[in-house]
Amino acid sequence: MFRNFRMVSYIVFGRGSFNQLNDILSKQRKDSESVMVFCVDDVFRNKPLRNRVPIKNRDLLVWVNADMEPKTSYVDSLTRQIKDQMNRAQNRTPAGIIGIGGGTTLDIAKAISLMLTNSGSSAEYQGWDLIKNPAVYHVGIPTLSGTGAEASRTAILTGPEKKLGLNSDYTVFDQIVLDPEIIAGVPTEQWFYTGMDCYIHCIESLTGTYLNAFSKAYGEKALDLCRQIFLEGGPESDDKLMMASYCGGMSIAYSQVGVAHALSYGLSFVLGLRHGIGNSIAFDYLEEFYPEGVAEFRRMTDKHRINIPRNITAGLDEEKLNRMIDVALILEPLWENALGKNWKEIMTRDRIAELYRKM
Ligand code: NAD
Ligand code: ZN
Repeated sequence: MFRNFRMVSYIVFGRGSFNQLNDILSKQRKDSESVMVFCVDDVFRNKPLRNRVPIKNRDLLVWVNADMEPKTSYVDSLTRQIKDQMNRAQNRTPAGIIGIGGGTTLDIAKAISLMLTNSGSSAEYQGWDLIKNPAVYHVGIPTLSGTGAEASRTAILTGPEKKLGLNSDYTVFDQIVLDPEIIAGVPTEQWFYTGMDCYIHCIESLTGTYLNAFSKAYGEKALDLCRQIFLEGGPESDDKLMMASYCGGMSIAYSQVGVAHALSYGLSFVLGLRHGIGNSIAFDYLEEFYPEGVAEFRRMTDKHRINIPRNITAGLDEEKLNRMIDVALILEPLWENALGKNWKEIMTRDRIAELYRKM
């Protein structure tokens, strides 16, 4: 069976396109009572962007904290908070959820839009196609580029048992706004690590066994853009990075990521490392699997004087190491994409432990 997957329905791209948000949303407001909920990364609390968010009379502004990767408990509490506020007003469901931020905030916005129409805890939906009801209309506006979260059909959450996304067709944004002006001014390290997420998406997709012409077309374009951005630079780098992130996301939508991502999930779950940095730490030790990619990645880290953290697993006890391995092994499609159908013969628990111990 070929995957028949849903894509983002509407995309606006361009410098200043954020200013069109009000027009876009007004078409979704059914009447003057309609409520839009803006979920905004709290890094913008005192920044000019805050005053550009087109909030109307009954709309809600929810500050999202992205200091840590999103947890199911956090999504549940934000959803409850929104439901309570709606109940107090008029017992209506919001007309839309608008996520403004990096991958964390975009995933939180996606997850909230799903949890407003699906009962229980978001932890119950970690997996593939477990969501039963369509989400509330939801919009994604990246302020940091690289994860491809704006394009993907998942909202990655850390739950009590695992780090795994709410993967479903309903998860996909109805609308995204790609305004390169908004990603200007991201601190260099964060820009680099989130950008490397995109670079690693391309390498893992393009070298995987799931590769096909669809993924290759997007992956090659994204990789070419990453090379321009991270090895050459130039005035249009932010525009290019937004498109690289989107194309990288589209590439993995029809293939998969690989070894670095599987290991990175374990690092995030046990050590709380952010996705981009976790990927970079893992990727640096994967020469055996991605020789050319790792060599080029090191040229990029050198050029931008990034010091990848080392010895992060030193002193880790057996229990934590085993937890890391368990989390990494849940990601079966990633291993299969990277290593083929017989991946279990290649990637044993001992082999994973050996890789983790090097980091
Ligand atoms: P992030 O959203 O975690 O943000 C990192 C930091 O940058 C935060 O402190 C945030 O406040 C800050 N920040 C955001 N925008 C900024 C701006 N314009 N200026 C200054 N600071 C800014 O980082 P990320 O790398 O974009 O996202 C990582 C998350 O994305 C992880 O939770 C990961 O699991 C998820 N992810 C999701 C997908 C998907 O397909 N859904 C894919 C890859 C990663
Ligand atoms: Zn990623």
